[in-house]
Amino acid sequence: MNVSTQPELSVQDDVVVTLDYSLQVDDETIDQSMDSGTIQFLQGHGDIIPGLESSLYGMRIGESKKVRVLPAEGYGEEDVDAYGEIPRGEFPPDFPLEVGVELQLRDHDGDVMEAFVEEVRDDIVLLNFNHRLAGKTLDFNVSVVDLRLATLEEIVHGHVHDQDVEESYE
Ligand code: ZN
Repeated sequence: MNVSTQPELSVQDDVVVTLDYSLQVDDETIDQSMDSGTIQFLQGHGDIIPGLESSLYGMRIGESKKVRVLPAEGYGEEDVDAYGEIPRGEFPPDFPLEVGVELQLRDHDGDVMEAFVEEVRDDIVLLNFNHRLAGKTLDFNVSVVDLRLATLEEIVHGHVHDQDVEESYE
């Protein structure tokens, strides 16, 4: 399949967007495409957070924009009940018990939950099950690097396919 850049396009549903971005929280840059690479996604399918997706409509290749996303349109408000205390003795002796360390736990149903260490006390470790960016206002600087029409298969799947790689896992 041969899909090329279409400069006359603007961001709309079912268009594949390649985006340069930087993300600041509380005036601190916490992520940027300079480090982690551009992101590519299918517009209009909820592949990225709603507050960012909705602000991109109509943008063209080369255009830049500042976007402020409030928690409700980002990673949600912080859930004050989403904390858990685990006795320190339940951690393996070699576990790096430091604030910010991420871990995965299995609940009673066998589902995997992600958390990070919020606080280490003498006998208890406080885990935070919120997304790290829950409750945060996100300040993005975005610029559109590339746009192309999605393939029918991408639209049906609701996500971008790497044009050079045959998808075998779906
Ligand atoms: Zn797919």
